[in-house]
Amino acid sequence: MAISAVKGFRDGLGPAACLSREIEEAAAGVLESYGFSEIRLPILERTELFARAIGETTDIVEKEMYTFEDRDGSLITLRPEGTASVVRALVEHHLDQKDSILRLYYAGPMFRHERPQKGRHRQFYQIGCELFGREDALADAEVLVCVRDILDAVGIPDARILVNSLGDENCRPAYREALRAWAERRQEGLCRNCIGRLGRNPLRILDCKVESCRETTAEAPVLRDHLCDPCGEHFAKVLAFLDGLGVAYTVDPRLVRGLDYYVRTTFEVTAEGLGAQAAVGAGGRYDGLVAQLGGPRMSGIGFAFGVDRLALALEAARPGAEERAGAALAPAIFLVSLGTEAEADALALARRLRALGVRVELDGGRSLKSLMRRADKLGASRVLILGEEEVAARRGTLRDMVGKKDEKLAVDFDLQGPALLDALGVER
Ligand code: AMP
Repeated sequence: MAISAVKGFRDGLGPAACLSREIEEAAAGVLESYGFSEIRLPILERTELFARAIGETTDIVEKEMYTFEDRDGSLITLRPEGTASVVRALVEHHLDQKDSILRLYYAGPMFRHERPQKGRHRQFYQIGCELFGREDALADAEVLVCVRDILDAVGIPDARILVNSLGDENCRPAYREALRAWAERRQEGLCRNCIGRLGRNPLRILDCKVESCRETTAEAPVLRDHLCDPCGEHFAKVLAFLDGLGVAYTVDPRLVRGLDYYVRTTFEVTAEGLGAQAAVGAGGRYDGLVAQLGGPRMSGIGFAFGVDRLALALEAARPGAEERAGAALAPAIFLVSLGTEAEADALALARRLRALGVRVELDGGRSLKSLMRRADKLGASRVLILGEEEVAARRGTLRDMVGKKDEKLAVDFDLQGPALLDALGVER
């Protein structure tokens, strides 16, 4: 019996792979223009890294990690996210001693044992970044503008950025108690999960998806009204920077992150057409995390986009995006070698064209009719035929396939460089 992929793990085929790559390249291009440089991280880490960084009581650590015993008995985990690894690398390589400000980005697969559905997979791809060493509101604003620029570059300018401030260790504890006290009086409207959360992490009741919880907490006190002066000023400054640039956002008082090290600015990006999994990205400030993982006191802010969801959002916003991305797979030249005399010349010519950046499909050893059929199927715009006669005359027969004109041209295939491209009508 044939073997299939593991549930929740998918193959990225042809056009889908092209679209993912386009998205990653667009995002990476923006990140690099913001001064971020790539860090290539391991896919496996020690389990304790995620337990300590993400938190023992989070869904990810409690239920979703792919954790294995290594051959030496130690516990290792397929990374469920990137931030913990970036911070681990920072601490391990003392990157803070090389520069007081660090801008790093990463891209690659993440693994979470979630229930697979549209937009939710067990292996999915993220591209994300982290900015360390800056506490000022300008840094938060810059990161949010970067998020907007990535959305524009990818092609989903209508995606929404939701922002909130989580306060800090000075103002959040009092708010947490106020929220807990408020919620304890309204337990009948909360789900079991939320009642359980009240003790450990009452903020999470605000982002519960259960309808009765949403209705109940609609009137809950909001953190924004409880921010201390420095946090309030910081948030106001961030928003003022965004307003100044005309970068659209929505303040969402329900937006919380469950972990203690998150402070101040937090945000989520949502897009249309994704059903229940509307979040295409998320991020925020996490000033305590580096120290928590044994590093120096160094502030941090970052975000991660889900590439698979960006692709879904792009397809929804611009139907045919995947097909258009896949069009890049069509060869510019379909090079046919007819008969054994032409083979060596065809191989050499294909190589010369490829070195000029032309996508060439080389084929031969069959009838011209079946070769032309394949050229057509691949969507090749031009077919260049080298047969016995062509080799003798040093001129290939070029057929223009666009519009099925079937115009034949004799092209000197010994031409070099741009002259060869011009003769073949290939765009430079
Ligand atoms: P998080 O690290 O949970 O904040 O996720 C950041 C982004 O990654 C989300 O906004 C999603 O776009 C994407 N993401 C998270 N989990 C999954 C998943 N299981 N499948 C696909 N994309 C995901």
